[in-house]
Amino acid sequence: PPSQPSPTRGEGLKESPVTITNPDRVIYPESGITKGELADYYLRLADPVLQWVADRPVSLVRCPQGRAKHCFFQKHDAGSFGDAVRHVPIREKNGHDEPYLYLNDAKGLLTCVQMGAIEFHGWGSKVTDVEKPDRLVFDLDPDEGLGWDEVRAAAEQLRDVLGEMGLASWPMLSGGKGIHVVVPLDASRAWPEVKDFASRFAQAISEAHPERFTANMKKVQRKGRIFLDWLRNQRGATAVLPYVARARPNAPVAAPVTWDELKHIESAARWTIRDADELLKRAGSKALKGWAVADQRLPDL
Ligand code: ATP
Ligand code: MN
Ligand code: MN
Repeated sequence: PPSQPSPTRGEGLKESPVTITNPDRVIYPESGITKGELADYYLRLADPVLQWVADRPVSLVRCPQGRAKHCFFQKHDAGSFGDAVRHVPIREKNGHDEPYLYLNDAKGLLTCVQMGAIEFHGWGSKVTDVEKPDRLVFDLDPDEGLGWDEVRAAAEQLRDVLGEMGLASWPMLSGGKGIHVVVPLDASRAWPEVKDFASRFAQAISEAHPERFTANMKKVQRKGRIFLDWLRNQRGATAVLPYVARARPNAPVAAPVTWDELKHIESAARWTIRDADELLKRAGSKALKGWAVADQRLPDL
C-alpha cells in the first residue's frame, strides 16, 4: 500500500549534519518510502558508502520530485550545493576544465540527498590522480528475460578468467538487473591502457563464449545473451558505487557480496534501504572485510 508509514521514517534525522526539508515527501510511490527515510539510510550507512564514494569524482542521479518523476544525471556543479560538496577541475575532450563533484564526508553526502540525489555513481579513479584508475568494473547487463542463474554463472566465469590472469575480483549486486564484477587496481596505469585491457578482455571472452556474452552494446546483439559492459572502464565513465540506493522500485541497494554468498542469492535487488540494519552489519562483517581491496597491477597486454 502506498504511503504506509515506516518505523524508520525520518527518525534518526536529528543527528543529520544537514537539515532535510520535506522529510515526509514520498519519493518511492510504490512503497511509500520518503525523502526522510532515504536521508536516514545514507546517514546510517555513511561510513560504508563513503569508503567507496569519498574522494572520487561522482555523478548524481537526482529525482527532486521522486523516482517516478523526472530524474537527471548530474556530472558537474559550479557551487549551488555549498561548501560540503567539493569540486575537482577535470579537463573535458573539448579542452575546457569542468568542475566535477566529489564528497569526503557525511555532510556532503546528506547535502546531495537534501538536493534530491538518490544515486551516487563514481569514476574509476580518485581525485588525487583522476588519470589513473584504481578499479575496473565489468557490468553484466543481461538481455531481458535471461534468467538469474545465467547472470550468476557468467559472473563466476569472469572471476575464473580474471583469476587465471592473477586478478582477484569481487561481485556486487547492482540493485537493478545485473551483477558488477569489481577488480581493484594499484592505480599504476592510466586510462588508455586500462580501457584497452577491458576492451580486449571483453572481446576475448565474448569470442570464446558467444552463446553467453556479447561485448557489443547494441541491443540486437544481446538476444539471449549478456552484454559485458566494459565501457565503464574509460575516462569519464561511471558506475554505481557500493551501498548506494537505486532510483528503482522499492529502493534496492547496490550490495557487495562474497562469491560464496552469491551462490545463494536470487536477485540483484536482494536488499533495499529498509534493510539498513542488516546492510550495516554486513558491511562490518568478517566475510566482507577486504571486499574489493587488493593492490594488484594489470598484467602486461
Ligand atoms: P543494472 O544492473 O540494472 O544494469 P546498472 O547500474 O549496471 O544496473 P546500467 O544501465 O548498466 O545500470 O548503467 C551502467 C552505468 O552507466 C551506471 O551505473 C551509470 O554510472 C552510468 N549511467 C547511467 N545513466 C547514465 C547517464 N544518463 N549518463 C551517463 N552515464 C550513465
Ligand atoms: Mn548494468
Ligand atoms: Mn551497463
